[in-house]
Amino acid sequence: MANQTEILSGTRRLLKGKVSKHAIIGLLISVGCILLATTLAGYIESGSINLNSMVYAQKTNFALWILDLMPFLFTLWGQYASSVMANEISVVIMDQTSDLRAEADAIEYKANYQATHDILTGLPNRVLVFDRMLQAHSSAKRDERPFAVLVMDLDHFKEINDTLGHYNGDRLLKQVAARLKDTVRDIDTVGRLGGDEFAVLLPTISAPEDAEDVAKKLLEALEPQFQVHGINLDVTASIGIAVYPEHGDDVDTLLQRADVAMYSTKNARTGYGQYCPALDANSKRRLSLSGELRQSIETGGLILHYQPKVNLRTERISGAEALVRWQHPEHGLMFPDEFIPLAERTGLIRPLTIWVIEQGLKDCAYWNAMGLNAGISLNISARDLIDPQLPESFAIFLKTHAVDPSLVVLEITESAIMADPQRALDVLNRLNAIGIKMSVDDFGTGYSSLAYLKQLPVSEIKIDKSFVMEMLQDENDAVIVRATIDLAHNLGMSVVAEGVQDRATSDQLKRLGCDVIQGQFTGMPMERDELIGRSTREPAQPSIVSAEG
Ligand code: C2E
Ligand code: CA
Ligand code: CA
Repeated sequence: MANQTEILSGTRRLLKGKVSKHAIIGLLISVGCILLATTLAGYIESGSINLNSMVYAQKTNFALWILDLMPFLFTLWGQYASSVMANEISVVIMDQTSDLRAEADAIEYKANYQATHDILTGLPNRVLVFDRMLQAHSSAKRDERPFAVLVMDLDHFKEINDTLGHYNGDRLLKQVAARLKDTVRDIDTVGRLGGDEFAVLLPTISAPEDAEDVAKKLLEALEPQFQVHGINLDVTASIGIAVYPEHGDDVDTLLQRADVAMYSTKNARTGYGQYCPALDANSKRRLSLSGELRQSIETGGLILHYQPKVNLRTERISGAEALVRWQHPEHGLMFPDEFIPLAERTGLIRPLTIWVIEQGLKDCAYWNAMGLNAGISLNISARDLIDPQLPESFAIFLKTHAVDPSLVVLEITESAIMADPQRALDVLNRLNAIGIKMSVDDFGTGYSSLAYLKQLPVSEIKIDKSFVMEMLQDENDAVIVRATIDLAHNLGMSVVAEGVQDRATSDQLKRLGCDVIQGQFTGMPMERDELIGRSTREPAQPSIVSAEG
């Protein structure tokens, strides 16, 4: 501050100096004018130009006396004006300098804040959490007492994000962050590690059980429903706990082990749990599974099974749904529920879907050549739907395997469409333009949006098996099935009921006007050649023969 005042008084001196220089020039000009006026007045009064006539003029001419005063008056006035101006300017400069200084401070603060905080939630980010862990670690080590770190991950956040869109996903994360922060003490740190993963640092605990109590409280804090986009959401989470020094001697190890504990808790659906060495084996299995899946996609380790779809009017197979399996060298035949979520998380879903499409179209061409005139239904994930290259890849495969596009149905869940409706709609319209049909899979289980359904190029609705399987016993399910059939027909779409397990259900669906059935009653998913064999029995009656169990 002293330095600033010095600079300012220097500036003021400089300004005054500059103004004074102009005042001296003015003074010289006015003295010149006086001399000229005196010379002229002397000449007019005595008829000659010399010193005597000038002295005489100065003594006798009143106007020259006034003129003589001017340089002094103007010099005084100039000096006065210059110091007033210099003062005013320095005040302005002072104001502007302190404004600039405040701005620079704010920018510096913001940059610091952004480097250490998560912009969305305002919570400390990974960098700051790590830094606070280092501090907690050094004081815990010095005082020989424990501290704990909790890693929390929301369950099914991806589905919420996919269904309600990223904007609403972000709104949910903000609300979650606020609740977590309100639950812990001021000395604890709640941070966001990224995505839907949070960390809670408890720098002072007296025993590992304290960390479990906090984990319980955090889960309780999430229990009241969240409201996002007018929808009430139940949000659950999984928490992994690592305690110093029991589970690790350094900050890196503790964070990594809390993460391992979190994953195991998520799989076991136990809410929270502490790390233990046995968990490392599981986490390695997950890692190696994703590597093995990548390899299997490339080397032909995947298999397609087909489940017949039977037209209730003709009672003949009208199509088959391709369902992927993974022939794992050690774990045996694995079902999609075990590896599709993994593929979606690790980005393997795109190559997997491409493999399914190509293999499915090849098989469809084959069974049509063998006399089974039936289409093929393919399952498409949310991630695939925002792939702008999908329609192009499809067009190429259709051409390569000479499959009529009207034989192809893509099964898409409502949540996959709602993940990014704009992009999904664009991809769906382009697929539709090629001649491929769309079906809404698992209808009734997602956040249905009729408004979207009407906009989509959808020609089929697939009633979820959870409504179909017990529709003969459960009146609510029966109502839903009946209403869905009417709704679909009113929208000009056909209806498939999945999970049809017996003739009684099939008959009832036929009475309700359902178009196509699929399920254990039409046959469990089977190999391509078995499907062809099935259709060659005349007439092709639905049977209860099961291929997979
Ligand atoms: P989904 O599309 O709803 O497929 C129907 C699932 O229900 C299949 O299980 C099928 O085997 C089973 N199912 C069929 N009939 C009956 C029945 O009468 N009773 C019962 N309880 N179940 C029946 P799967 O093959 O294990 O597939 C599970 C899910 O995995 C599928 O559900 C689908 O969402 C996904 N999936 C399968 N193949 C693919 C694929 O190639 N790509 C993608 N993205 N997802 C796939
Ligand atoms: Ca399906
Ligand atoms: Ca389904």
